[in-house]
Amino acid sequence: MAVIYFDNNATTRLAPEAYEAMQPYLTEQYGNPSSIHSFGSRISRKIEEARGQVAALVGASSPIEITFTSCGTEADNAAIWAVLESRPDKRHIVTTQVEHPAVLGLCQHLEKKGYRLTWLGVDREGLLDLDELRDSLSDDTALVSVMVANNETGVIFPIDAIGEIVKSRGIPFHVDAVQAAGKMPLNMTKSPVDLLTLSGHKFHGPKGVGALYVRKGIAFRPFIVGGHQERNRRGGTENVAGIVGMGKAAESALAGLGREEKRVQELRDRLEKSLLESGCRVNGHREKRLANTLNVSFEFLEGEAILVLLDEYGICASTGSACTAGSTEPSHVLRAMGVPPAWIQGAVRFSLSRYNTLEEVQFVAEKIPLVVERLRGLSALGKGEKERVQGLKGLRETENARGESRNSKLSVG
Ligand code: PLP
Repeated sequence: MAVIYFDNNATTRLAPEAYEAMQPYLTEQYGNPSSIHSFGSRISRKIEEARGQVAALVGASSPIEITFTSCGTEADNAAIWAVLESRPDKRHIVTTQVEHPAVLGLCQHLEKKGYRLTWLGVDREGLLDLDELRDSLSDDTALVSVMVANNETGVIFPIDAIGEIVKSRGIPFHVDAVQAAGKMPLNMTKSPVDLLTLSGHKFHGPKGVGALYVRKGIAFRPFIVGGHQERNRRGGTENVAGIVGMGKAAESALAGLGREEKRVQELRDRLEKSLLESGCRVNGHREKRLANTLNVSFEFLEGEAILVLLDEYGICASTGSACTAGSTEPSHVLRAMGVPPAWIQGAVRFSLSRYNTLEEVQFVAEKIPLVVERLRGLSALGKGEKERVQGLKGLRETENARGESRNSKLSVG
């Protein structure tokens, strides 16, 4: 059965041109870029090429503002750590309630360690109140960390406007652009952002490689201390193939920006229109949103059950829920938006990419009403809570019998 992949905020397919660029560095070009001999040292030139490609994607003024990491999570940790280490006297951090766990988890940890945290809320459409942000800043604020685009809803925050406020107080500004990079224009030269996080596998690069943009002049302390790689900013022998693949993917994403965004948005909007006919609601601001993301909720249904049934047709999507240790927690993002519990449970995220087609959208649009109808027959509205639970249990048992891990279906990205 063909896979119909609508889970691109979780991860993306590797672009063929990125795969091709990586191959020599997985086989014959295995030298260490830090070596003196030319077999190794010529590889460092390839890393610099990739650095330039990633710098171009985010409009950095120089490639040296890019440091490669192992993933977006590491880049988020490195950014926050770097700022806090260089401002040890400041004990206050401002972030939002809807960040990805890469930032959220670290900030919760820092709160336990004694930092004072301001968790900015969002409105019903997932947007921030900039006055609340302004009022939260103080002389003790070490850092503001805010994402560009939300991984669950695609809602886009006005990073430049936020940055103006933050920088007017002389506070370092970190931005998680993992979901935004390659999907919308980013221009660090003109933006008030000091540190920006990227991840290769979200824009058709390989997994296991990320990058951190650090504006020239920003004080920086390395998060991974060890060797002198990455100009002393990140110890550890470089993931050469990953870096080369990320660079190539960045180049392709930049070349397709605008054109691909428009095409993907047309597909997303078609899908949205037909899903709305099945009685769902859209979560998140309808305009201030990534072109590829559609988060919908079906009242009184379980998003997880919808995914299981979609999976039977080969359709990959995800719930808006974070999955911890095998149990699903209601989405912290939808909760922060004040989405009623009966709708939160029924949330499903479809996230598209340039590789999706109109035929795939039509296929999903055709199957969703069947899935919804089947589950409504089991739902509390239909035959009562007991039967609904039994129905879901039956679905899970079928799934387990197929020997598949339920967790693997609950990617959040
Ligand atoms: N930040 C956001 C907004 C994300 O969506 C993700 C991944 O889903 C990350 C950070 C973490 O990136 P990585 O998977 O490369 O660690």
